[in-house]
Amino acid sequence: MDIFEKLRVNLGPLGQHSKEAHGYFAFPKLEGEIHPRMRFRGKEVLTWSLNNYIGLANHPEVRKADAQAAADYGMAYPMGARMMSGQTAKHEELEQKLADFVGKPAGYLLNYGYQGIMSIIDAIVDRRDVVVYDAECHASIMDGIFLHKAKGGKSYVFPHNDMERARKMLRFAQAKTEETGGGILLITEGVFGMSGDLGKLDELVALKKDFNFRFLVDDAHGFGTMGKTGAGTGEHFGVQDGIDLYFSTFAKSMAGIGAFVATDEDIINMLAYNMRSQIFAKSLPMPMTIGALKRLELLQTKPELKEKLWHIVNKLQAGLIDAGFNIGNTQSPVTPVLMSGQVPEAGNLIMDLRENYGVFCSGVVYPVVPKGVILLRLIPTADHTDEDVEYTIKAFSACKEKLDAGAYRSNTLGKF
Ligand code: PMP
Repeated sequence: MDIFEKLRVNLGPLGQHSKEAHGYFAFPKLEGEIHPRMRFRGKEVLTWSLNNYIGLANHPEVRKADAQAAADYGMAYPMGARMMSGQTAKHEELEQKLADFVGKPAGYLLNYGYQGIMSIIDAIVDRRDVVVYDAECHASIMDGIFLHKAKGGKSYVFPHNDMERARKMLRFAQAKTEETGGGILLITEGVFGMSGDLGKLDELVALKKDFNFRFLVDDAHGFGTMGKTGAGTGEHFGVQDGIDLYFSTFAKSMAGIGAFVATDEDIINMLAYNMRSQIFAKSLPMPMTIGALKRLELLQTKPELKEKLWHIVNKLQAGLIDAGFNIGNTQSPVTPVLMSGQVPEAGNLIMDLRENYGVFCSGVVYPVVPKGVILLRLIPTADHTDEDVEYTIKAFSACKEKLDAGAYRSNTLGKF
């Protein structure tokens, strides 16, 4: 069979809907400066789908630092991978500052979180080791585990946040490693990005009393939003010391590109020489590095940004609950709104919100959530206002009423 012919008929689980979805539900173009008010198809929309949690993306000091670094260095410097010719003192400074902030001895930058965490997993476990992980871990973690399996390594998954099963999987892992002579790596997330609930980091760390394992936490959504100083979900639970490898991306609170891992100094040294996606890829450009230093400085010195975020989070979540919405189990800024309805209804609901109420949020349906569930996901930020929250809850209430009355049942999108 010709590969291209196969691809033309099978666009994959997400691609199969591309004809109806492209440019609207998938790959929408939000235009204008990053802000709660942006343009979508020529009209201003109130945007709730950007992970710019503490409003750094467009902060004037960030914009200035980014522009100055681009003027001073261009977008290319340093050329080459870190190991070959891409090392700078600024990269090292950022690594140390990030590590100090999250309370670890050393840190290492990663070009993208996705490849970074894959390579962390790939580099630290060999075929004798066993990975135990939460079933709702991000695709990047899953891909890291696939690499482990490809080398003949074993893994055990526990249902999301199910501590009894986590313990059971650790027991299996322990039995396996007694056979192989390997060790155990436990992986979960600080904040789960779809549901907003937290990994039970305190209970998982407590399992160290009974099992010998190393603990890797992906805190993509927790860094900058959780904990007293914003150092993340480990800080929130008071168990940062029990996290052996702390990972976060710059794609959310840090409003940039890149990521980092923080752990013991000798382990960082080992990772620097063994993470394939970093050894064989170009170093982060200087504007990203200097820009991240500025973002980290603001994140640490302007607690009012996180306070403002949480003011909006609390107002939005309390308001939605008061209006009768089900927001699941969130304990973080990520705000899911769960409704009942079928796939075409979800499309019409999202369209009505965008076209007639000017509210832009993302939604997911089966197979991401169970059949008959519509999940709309709101990401509050420090840039939103009280009025934005009030308006959005009113718009959601109006659309929910229409949904319940069957107004969105038409199979023809936009007919409601
Ligand atoms: N982990 C989690 C939990 C994420 O949500 C993401 C997506 N940003 C990543 C890893 C990958 O990070 P990046 O966007 O930096 O590749």
